[in-house]
Amino acid sequence: MSFDYDLFVIGGGSGGVRAARMAAGTGARVALAEEFRMGGTCVIRGCVPKKLMVYASSFSQAFEDAAGFGWDVPSASFDWTKLIAAKDAEITRLEGLYRGGLNGADVTTYDARATLSDAHGVTLSTGETFTAAHILVATGGRPFVPDVPGAEHAITSNEVFDLPEMPKRVLVVGGGYIACEFAGIFNGMGAKTHQFYRGAQILRGFDGEVRGHVSDAMIARGIDLHLGTDVVKIDKQADGLHVSCTNGAVCVVDQVLYATGRVANTEGLGLESLGLSLGRTGEIPVNEYSQTAIPSVYAVGDVTNRVNLTPVAIREAMAFVDTVFRGIPTPVDHDLVPTAIFTQPEIGTVGMGEDEAAKTCDIQVYRAAFRPMANILAGRDERMLMKLIVAKDSQKVLGCHIVGPAAGEMIQMAGIAIKMGATKADFDRTCAVHPTAAEELVTMKNPIEVAQVA
Ligand code: NDP
Repeated sequence: MSFDYDLFVIGGGSGGVRAARMAAGTGARVALAEEFRMGGTCVIRGCVPKKLMVYASSFSQAFEDAAGFGWDVPSASFDWTKLIAAKDAEITRLEGLYRGGLNGADVTTYDARATLSDAHGVTLSTGETFTAAHILVATGGRPFVPDVPGAEHAITSNEVFDLPEMPKRVLVVGGGYIACEFAGIFNGMGAKTHQFYRGAQILRGFDGEVRGHVSDAMIARGIDLHLGTDVVKIDKQADGLHVSCTNGAVCVVDQVLYATGRVANTEGLGLESLGLSLGRTGEIPVNEYSQTAIPSVYAVGDVTNRVNLTPVAIREAMAFVDTVFRGIPTPVDHDLVPTAIFTQPEIGTVGMGEDEAAKTCDIQVYRAAFRPMANILAGRDERMLMKLIVAKDSQKVLGCHIVGPAAGEMIQMAGIAIKMGATKADFDRTCAVHPTAAEELVTMKNPIEVAQVA
């Protein structure tokens, strides 16, 4: 049977665009449909605009710190509208690059919603239909908002980047990546920022000490963080949104940002009618080659809910192309993925946290907590935290956790060593770079006492 295309990609985000371009590079005839803007969550309303906002918000502290270094900084003011306009221009530029990359690779693009009509068929919202030897679903995810009375008054990360004005008072709900990053952004921009998290400590899943260190620092920087607290209802009144909390208090704010997780974008794609059963949060189950139970249909990125990070989606896309279009079956390696959380202070982490590692073997923990050099003249008490988790017998470094300036940059490098199987002795025989904060990673001499889990 002859098909219109060798590959039809649904979704123009990080995973879909990379797969389309790489597959086309092998000589395959490729099409891609995107219903919104090319670039996906990461570029349009995720990682990229978020990082720009983190930069913007960090200037308030930089202006304060400058005084300790002899600068006389006149009182600074922040213009939200200017930032949003500059951010929009940059996103439009990047979207153009994504489109240009697809065109340059001879991928046919459709600005339309696509659904699957059968194992080899795609129908577009324009009414056009196509057939393809392979279909790749890369439709990503979307914010999940719990069913709370008044939730319609709240915004999510879909809206936060386009608010016409900066809220003076904001409540962020959630304790994960997005909630903690946005609490820092709004706080740094000068908004009175409250954060509610239902559990005992933010950033579940990360190293316990890192969680405590970051939450203390966020509070010290001015975030009104309430643990064990959730929203009961939101009432819209003339003076703002009245948020009734589980602790009985009422918090009045201009915006409520829900960052309570994301779900896969699989609704109405036609997958169930093809007989494909979806996972608990609507995700598409796939094997190690990103292949679904229907052999011609593959899925990569957040829609599969494996490790929901842009660089992982890109790797899944490349492994898919190697497997299907280059004849090199390539499973996706999801182990030891380094990641940064752009909280303020920033977190860089790779591998297991202390508690998680202690469940797998006897461990040694090395820790350094210190004031980074820049904070001394700035008169800032905030400390930096670095931890290495080491397997006692093999001496392999199982995890590295950094909190402080440039933690995200450092963890990329530490991630290489740890992925290569570096031992503590390998770290120790690496000469320090002085004067840096990173040198602490190779100068931690003695393990701290830790209780071992049998
Ligand atoms: P996360 O899964 O990280 O966090 C969701 C948070 O919402 C958790 O604190 C969770 O609590 C809480 N929550 C979930 N359901 C409810 C509920 N019904 N009521 C109250 N609270 C609730 O999701 P995010 O939305 O923050 O981010 C989604 C994903 O995007 C991340 O997992 C990450 O993979 C990716 N991301 C990565 C970034 C980066 O690399 N820097 C930045 C932003 C996002 P609990 O812990 O109790 O379950």
